[in-house]
Amino acid sequence: MQFDSSLDFARNMDEQDSLRSFRQQFFIPQHNGQDCVYFTGNSLGLQPKSVIDKLKIELEDWSHHGVDGHFDGRNPWFHYHKFSTESVARIVGAKPLEVVVMNNLTVNLHLMMVSFYRPAGKRYKIVMEAGAFPSDQYAMESQVKFHGYAYDDAVIEVKPRSGEYGLRTEDILQTIDDHGDEIALVMFSGVQYYTGQAFNMKAIAQKAHEVGALAGFDLAHAAGNLVLKLHDWEVDFAVWCSYKYLNSGPGGVSGVFVHEKYANSPELPRFAGWWGHKESERFLMKRGYIPETGAAGWQLSNAPVLTMAAHRASLDLFDQVTMEQLNEKSVLLNGYLQFVVEEAAQENSELQFEIITPMERGCQLSVLTGSNGKQLFDFLTEHGVIADWREPNVIRMAPVPMYNSFEDIQRFGSILRSFGKQPSEMNG
Ligand SMILES: *Cc1c(COP(=O)(O)O)cnc(C)c1O
Repeated sequence: MQFDSSLDFARNMDEQDSLRSFRQQFFIPQHNGQDCVYFTGNSLGLQPKSVIDKLKIELEDWSHHGVDGHFDGRNPWFHYHKFSTESVARIVGAKPLEVVVMNNLTVNLHLMMVSFYRPAGKRYKIVMEAGAFPSDQYAMESQVKFHGYAYDDAVIEVKPRSGEYGLRTEDILQTIDDHGDEIALVMFSGVQYYTGQAFNMKAIAQKAHEVGALAGFDLAHAAGNLVLKLHDWEVDFAVWCSYKYLNSGPGGVSGVFVHEKYANSPELPRFAGWWGHKESERFLMKRGYIPETGAAGWQLSNAPVLTMAAHRASLDLFDQVTMEQLNEKSVLLNGYLQFVVEEAAQENSELQFEIITPMERGCQLSVLTGSNGKQLFDFLTEHGVIADWREPNVIRMAPVPMYNSFEDIQRFGSILRSFGKQPSEMNG
């Protein structure tokens, strides 16, 4: 694709974009009467306009039926978690049996670790990427301590080679090989939150299994972003949140994948609650926990219907596209963003930056800024760009195929080019 930074080019790209009408389904934050350039769908996805109606249904059913909404509501709350499983399964490449929405992400990570981090004898180590999202680091740290190990001994962090930002797949696989029979679990993110690198989950899971370990993934930045095939890749478990690329609102409900091979494993240790109990007997209130088949058997509590209703609104939109279609647009958008950023840096000597996101990536582009990085970031904010600043000096941008346009990126380019210039020096 031959990109250029003219407005005509961007508008033409938007016209040819078969997904362009999705943008109208979202509220776009405003700045000086104009749409913001919203590049933080990797942090909090925008609000689908249909959320409010989805919520209203549940609020009305609650007001009309009270507790009977569990069975008499239009979407009976007793089954509420099930209304999302088909859509979610499609998004992560799973069978419906393998997924459930429940709780929040870090909670679910811990619940999965209870079942799938089972250190024994020599095999007690966890391999993970260095610089993982803090919540994941804390989860691993507290889990190994819970089992009586020290972090530095039990957690093997794979680091980039010196001078590089991304991890090479060969280095990840080599680390797993090197520690083979000491490893209980390989736990990686699907997309690294800081660098935006997409990891080769298939190869990592395969290598983990080769050495006799399990493989789990945190898909916070991958779900709704990449084409995932969790079932076929034989991932053991995965967790994700719904408020980033899945647009389901702040603190939105999380998703869990447990591979079909564990669907009928009541003997697997787990922390249990009534909602994971065999559904046909859930209300018999008997002693003795019998888990539901599949991922549903890891539920603890009754469904948070209001946040799940917001999730449902977003999933309705995902039902109208495939992840392949979204990814195809994402590659173009992100390629265009890279082009615009690099071109602006060539034209404007005030811009000192280096792209640290490798080509294996989803929506996100992370840029390492120079000494004036924070000024640049503030300048972008003043001009209606919502991006995000990560200490010490990285700006993350994530054009999202559901609602970002090529024109967003073109406008971003002209704002970048005007950084540090007097108005008279600006050429549009
Ligand atoms: C966003 C994110 C989280 C957030 O965890 P919550 O439990 O939803 O607050 C955790 N891990 C990763 C990798 C993330 O990107």
